[in-house]
Amino acid sequence: MNYHSMSAAELGSTRDELAGLYETLQAAGLKLDLTRGKPSPDQLDLSNGLLSLPGDTHTDPSGTDCRNYGGTAGLPGLREIFGELLAVPSKQLIAANNSSLEIMYDLTVFAMLHGTPDSDGPWGRDPVKFLCPAPGYDRHFAICESLGIEMVTVEMLPNGPDVDACAALVADDPTIKGLWAVPTFSNPTGVTFSEDVVRGLMAMPAAAPDFRVYWDNAYAVHTLTEDFPPPVPILEIAAQEGNPNRPYVLGSTSKITFAGSGVSFFGSSESNIAWHQKHVGISSIGPDKVNQLRHLMFFGDADGVRAHMAKHRELLAPKFALVAKILSDRLGDSKVASWTEPDGGYFVSLDVIDGTAARVIELAKEAGIALTAAGSTYPYKRDPYDRNIRLAPTFPGTEELATAMDGVATCVLLAAADKLLAVGAVPD
Ligand code: PMP
Repeated sequence: MNYHSMSAAELGSTRDELAGLYETLQAAGLKLDLTRGKPSPDQLDLSNGLLSLPGDTHTDPSGTDCRNYGGTAGLPGLREIFGELLAVPSKQLIAANNSSLEIMYDLTVFAMLHGTPDSDGPWGRDPVKFLCPAPGYDRHFAICESLGIEMVTVEMLPNGPDVDACAALVADDPTIKGLWAVPTFSNPTGVTFSEDVVRGLMAMPAAAPDFRVYWDNAYAVHTLTEDFPPPVPILEIAAQEGNPNRPYVLGSTSKITFAGSGVSFFGSSESNIAWHQKHVGISSIGPDKVNQLRHLMFFGDADGVRAHMAKHRELLAPKFALVAKILSDRLGDSKVASWTEPDGGYFVSLDVIDGTAARVIELAKEAGIALTAAGSTYPYKRDPYDRNIRLAPTFPGTEELATAMDGVATCVLLAAADKLLAVGAVPD
């Protein structure tokens, strides 16, 4: 029943029932974790073929001895495959080590210390701000916080960031140097940016000539349906709109092969790539090419990656369907929560009654269910509405996931009943 139309007496007795359910939940002594978007062990098993590669081979098809130093741009064959999947010309795509987050961090540090090809000096000389669509990815925000970059929240809408708000902000403020974007199956909302949003972000005039969009395409091929999202040629679009240096394209195989031992990618304009290579060449004499070679042999081509992602989908789609079913069964009638049912990516974004997200997370914790910390999806970990909770259903087994989600639903309902009773919003 809709909690908003219950009388105080009805809500009070519902609350008492929920308190009973919660006591049983606590007594079960659970130890469940829905905090981080990690592949499950059976997903990792899909890539066990990598463990015996590259076997006795140590040269790539272009003749590079992968055991040696050098080749900062990475193996051409692998750049070819991921160039196709990320819609970046392979000459403008770097294959690097195991973390795209590390590349994003480096790009930001290089700019803070040295400036970009379009800067008139290091960013760090003056105050720097980034636009942060929220709900968004906490580790993007952590990079800003760690480097002293002020975060300006813009709203994440169902078709991508609020472009009008972004355009108004960047038009007048030369200290806004960056914007975080997860264009496909976004973390945590699952949103894929519409064509209008994509073009708008590339076209909007910016007061800062060195304004950059971190196009973090971490979930480019991570579909939960039979269809793969069409790759968006973002570098081409940016060039057409007169801002060829604006996008930094990022991606990795972290959620394709092994999360800790994959290969990451960086694509951008020729001038940005040359700039990145110049600075990266100071800190490293080349990436782990043996790992790149084993990935190249494992996939063969872009279709090999798609076929592999279909196996992930078979494992993940039932988990996401289970989450949707439990949330709908337990929360559907009460009208105290809404949630996403994404077609891809790694998360479900749950919105509860304003002012109760932190309480839900606390209740869950006390019942042995770890949820991502309150506020995590907002800059400075401050959710202005205390509303959003990121659920990561990929890692637990199906049974654990069902238990955890059922427990979360109880916490959501209990916190909502308490809140509604406390504010006296219920007509008697
Ligand atoms: N970007 C996004 C949007 C992510 O969700 C994640 C992983 N949670 C990453 C980047 C991390 O990628 P990598 O493992 O390549 O550093």
